[in-house]
Amino acid sequence: MSSENDDAVKTICPYCGVGCGIKVQQGDDPGDVNFRPWGDAPVNEGRICIKGGAATQVVDHEDRLTEPLIKDDGEFREATWEEAYARIVSEMERIREEHGPDAMGFSAPRRR
Ligand code: SF4
Repeated sequence: MSSENDDAVKTICPYCGVGCGIKVQQGDDPGDVNFRPWGDAPVNEGRICIKGGAATQVVDHEDRLTEPLIKDDGEFREATWEEAYARIVSEMERIREEHGPDAMGFSAPRRR
């Protein structure tokens, strides 16, 4: 990790809905991403759990999905982002029409 480079970017931990603030920075090697503390992050005030602490270890992992997958006939296949978003919209509309708006729920981090 380069300690002289101060171009860390503030972002949100991608794992759960708490929304803890973290800082990420380009590492010395291409594809490397380093984690740096964000001490005054409004949600977590610099504290993170073990999953958040490992967040940058999965950015360039060989098993990471980089394209959306859609399940057809029990099998996943790659899809375009446009197709994936269209599927999400059509399924949400179908659920709302068949079961009403209370059939869906969403989770978002609480802000102070
Ligand atoms: S650091 Fe932990 S609690 Fe915070 S958003 Fe990430 S996974 Fe959730």
